[in-house]
Amino acid sequence: MEIIVATGNQGKLREFREILIDWEVSSMAEKGIHADAEEAGTTFAENALIKAQTLAAALRERNMEAIAISDDSGLEIDAFGGAPGVYSARYLGHDTPYDVKNRIILNRLADTPDEKRTARYVAAIAAVMPDGTVLHSHGTVEGIIGWKSEGSGGFGYDPIFFVPEFGKSMALLSPDEKNSISHRGRALREMLPKIRSWLEMNGRTADT
Ligand code: IMP
Repeated sequence: MEIIVATGNQGKLREFREILIDWEVSSMAEKGIHADAEEAGTTFAENALIKAQTLAAALRERNMEAIAISDDSGLEIDAFGGAPGVYSARYLGHDTPYDVKNRIILNRLADTPDEKRTARYVAAIAAVMPDGTVLHSHGTVEGIIGWKSEGSGGFGYDPIFFVPEFGKSMALLSPDEKNSISHRGRALREMLPKIRSWLEMNGRTADT
């Protein structure tokens, strides 16, 4: 069964495809669906559910049977009291380029020592199955905000998110390395057995 991802974020979509390598994964746009969900929730889990439910409703209207899946994710910087958190996409302006956003964050942390630069990426994933069943999963990865912007892989805040276990920024990791430890990779790997078990209980397979 096809998985449709409720996102317009190309970086996220690419990572979904890399991680869900055995599945047919499409974006809403590829299916001609432009269902705007207002991310009115105050938690990652709430927003993930809002986006997945909005997509699921659009699929039902079109009589399309597929798994509607959504990731709500963001960066929590401890020195900023957990900001930008659920507002990560909108932080410092939705359309502000990330090299500018990242430079502003580094400037604001110019006097913050290593031990106070702790941060984490968080991802909540919600999947709405064709019968309306809702599945949830969650993933985090701990890191620190580095001292400079490094690398061009990944997307968003990755050039300033230093991953201690690799000794480099997230944007310097290969896609496989990033997906093996990332919040999204972890949340998706927690989600997959739940989807498989729903398929099994409903006499379906990934191909039907
Ligand atoms: P959402 O699309 O509302 O879930 O917002 C996610 C935002 O969180 C992105 O636009 C980025 O700002 C940030 N973010 C989430 N995951 C990542 C990641 O893997 N790398 C870099 N930034 C991320």
